[in-house]
Amino acid sequence: MDPVASLGKLDILPIELLDIIVSQCCDIQTVVTSLSLVNRCARVILHSSFIYQRLRCHADRALVAMLRTKVASYFTLADVDSILCGDPYCTRSGDFGPPLWLPECCRCCMSCLRGAPDLSGLPISRHAATKALGISKSALARLPTYESPYPCLSFRHARAAAVKIAGGEAQFMARISVSPWRQAAYDAFIAQTRPWDNVARYMVAAPLPYFDKRFGKVDRGIHCLGCQRVVVAASMVNCVYHREDIRRRDTVYVARDFIHHI
Ligand SMILES: [Zn+2]
Ligand SMILES: [Zn+2]
Repeated sequence: MDPVASLGKLDILPIELLDIIVSQCCDIQTVVTSLSLVNRCARVILHSSFIYQRLRCHADRALVAMLRTKVASYFTLADVDSILCGDPYCTRSGDFGPPLWLPECCRCCMSCLRGAPDLSGLPISRHAATKALGISKSALARLPTYESPYPCLSFRHARAAAVKIAGGEAQFMARISVSPWRQAAYDAFIAQTRPWDNVARYMVAAPLPYFDKRFGKVDRGIHCLGCQRVVVAASMVNCVYHREDIRRRDTVYVARDFIHHI
């Protein structure tokens, strides 16, 4: 059934411009939860977007996770599509990164999700960020905030904003150290966070396969059975695990890279 109601003033725009507005200008939360409720015509525009169709088909779980954590308010459909079809590797380690790290809308691998050494994945609440980093809540307002289950933001984002406001890394550290209670809050946050035990990390990652545009194929990654057996064998013999073995067991490869591993 054809839509009866129009898009009002937007009706004069060609479908190509409406597609750009939907996929590149509006955030995901707006187009999926608000625009699609306007009328049937708006829903037709959204559902005819090629990018939206591709994401619904191949990145549905990531989209749902972004909407539920409200981080979808900070990214567009084109942002997620560029991750789905772009570089399939973790931005930190360079391994294949099937999880999407929601606060920064970038790929990460399981090893980094468990314990990124640069603390980049740590979530921090707005209150803790203002206390430990010495910046105002208004300075944090534009940074992506997600609910998991309470509002948090990426520590790396918050720290980068604080460094920018301070005018550099040295000035930022000087600003921290000049106030004993701020230094204590900063140290306490760093000390209390043990990456391997931090459940909050896993609550803001969602599976995102790699879509190879050249062949039109989805690659969800391959685990090495041999590396998994090494860890199982070690657990049966002496229960001694080497971190490198665990890392290899958890590493996922895109099909084109797996041949180099074996
Ligand atoms: Zn990684
Ligand atoms: Zn292997």
